[in-house]
Amino acid sequence: MKAELIFTGTELLLGQVLNTHGRYLGRRLSDLGIEVILHTTVGDDWERMASVFKQALQRSDIIITTGGLGPTSDDLTKETIAEVLGLSMVLHEESLASIKQFFTSRDNKMPDSNLKQAYFPEGANVIPNPCGTAPGAIIETKDGRVVIILPGPPWELEAMCEGSVVSYLASLEGRGDVTRFTTLKLTGIREDDVQDLLNDLDGVNNPEISYIARPGEVHVRISAHAKTAQQADKLVKPLADEVTKRLKPYIFAMDDERIDFVVGELLRKKDMTIAVAESCTAGMVESRLCDMAGCSKYLIGGVVCYSSMVKEKILGIDPKGLAEHGAVSEWAAKAMAENVRSMLKSDLGLAVTGVAGPTSSENKPIGLVYIALATPEGTQCREYKMPGRRMAIRQGAVNASLKMVRHYLEGT
Ligand code: ATP
Repeated sequence: MKAELIFTGTELLLGQVLNTHGRYLGRRLSDLGIEVILHTTVGDDWERMASVFKQALQRSDIIITTGGLGPTSDDLTKETIAEVLGLSMVLHEESLASIKQFFTSRDNKMPDSNLKQAYFPEGANVIPNPCGTAPGAIIETKDGRVVIILPGPPWELEAMCEGSVVSYLASLEGRGDVTRFTTLKLTGIREDDVQDLLNDLDGVNNPEISYIARPGEVHVRISAHAKTAQQADKLVKPLADEVTKRLKPYIFAMDDERIDFVVGELLRKKDMTIAVAESCTAGMVESRLCDMAGCSKYLIGGVVCYSSMVKEKILGIDPKGLAEHGAVSEWAAKAMAENVRSMLKSDLGLAVTGVAGPTSSENKPIGLVYIALATPEGTQCREYKMPGRRMAIRQGAVNASLKMVRHYLEGT
C-alpha cells in the first residue's frame, strides 16, 4: 500500500517554516506498514495544487495533504480537491456548530470568513479538530483511493492523527510489514565511537541499527519490520537490550522522552529542589528545567558564572583554589555545585564548567567539561570530552548534566 504526502503552503517553499510534518507522518505511516513513496511541497496556488493532486491520484493508494484549511482566500486545499474529484462542497452542520463554539468559549463571535471551514467535499468523513478551528476529512474515492486532508499547525495535525487517522489507517487491509523501533539518545560520545562499540553486533538488516548525529547528542535507532507489531517488537528487543547495556553510561533519554521533563517529574515526585551554577552553558540548563509547567515547585534558580569574577564574588568560590586548579576543573565544578546548593538552600546543586571553544582556555582542550552534583549524601563530579563545535559542546553539557541528575534521582 503506497502513500504520498502533499504539503501545501507558500511559506514552506520560501523557507519561512520548516516542514516537520514529513517526519511525523513518515514515522506514523511506516509504523502502520504503509510505504511513503513521495513528498511534494506546493505553494498556495490553485493550478499547481490541482496538478500535483491529479498526479498523486494516478500513483498512490493514500494521499495525505496538510495545510490550507484556514479561513483566508489562500486556503484552497479542500476546494481544489473537490474540483479534481468532481465533488461539490457541502456544509457540515456539526463542524459549523463546533467552530462557533470554539469562538464562543473565547468570548468571541465567529467571523464570517470561518464559515468556509465548515464546508467539505460531499461524502467526506469529517475529522474533528480538538485543538483548532479547521476540521480535516477522509475521502474514499470511487476507484478505491483514500484522500486524507489535515490542517497545517503541527499540534493540530498530530492530535487529529492520533485521535482518528491512525485508527482509520490501521483498519485498512493490504498494508505491508509494520516497522517498530527503539531510539537511544546519547551524549558525551562521538558517533564513530558509538559505531565502534557496536561493530560486532548483527544490525545490518532486520533488525537494523542506524545512527543520527545531532548537536550535543547521538541517536541510535534499533528497528525491525514484521507482519505484526508484536513480531517486530520481538526482533527489536534483544538487540536493543544489548545495545543499551553497552552504551548505558552515555544514554540520557529513550524514544520520545524529554530529559528535562523526566528530571522535572522526578524532582516533583520526590519533593526535592535544585539550584544550578552554569559557566559554559550560561543558563541553558536552567532554561531547559524551566520548560515544564509547574517548575517553580523544584527549580529554585541559579547563577550564570561565566567569568571567574562572578564565580568568586557571587558564588563565593575561593580565588586561590580557582588560580591553582583553573575554572575548568573538577575542583571548580564541585565548589560551584556545593556553593550554589548552600547559598540557595536547595536539595541539589548542579554545576557545569567547560571549554566550549573555538579557542582553548587555561591550556585545556576544547570540549573538556566538568559536571558536578552536590547532594545531601555528598558531591559527585564527572569529566567529559564533548565532541563537536561550540554549540554542540554546550548542548552536550546540558544533556549530560540533566543525565547526572536523572541517574541520581533514579538511583542508577
Ligand atoms: P490555519 O487554520 O491555522 O490557517 P491551515 O490548515 O490553513 O491552518 P496553514 O495556514 O497552511 O494551515 O498553516 C498554518 C501554520 O501551520 C503555518 O504558518 C505553519 O506555522 C504551520 N505549518 C503548516 N504546514 C507545516 C508543515 N508542513 N510543517 C510544519 N509546520 C507547518
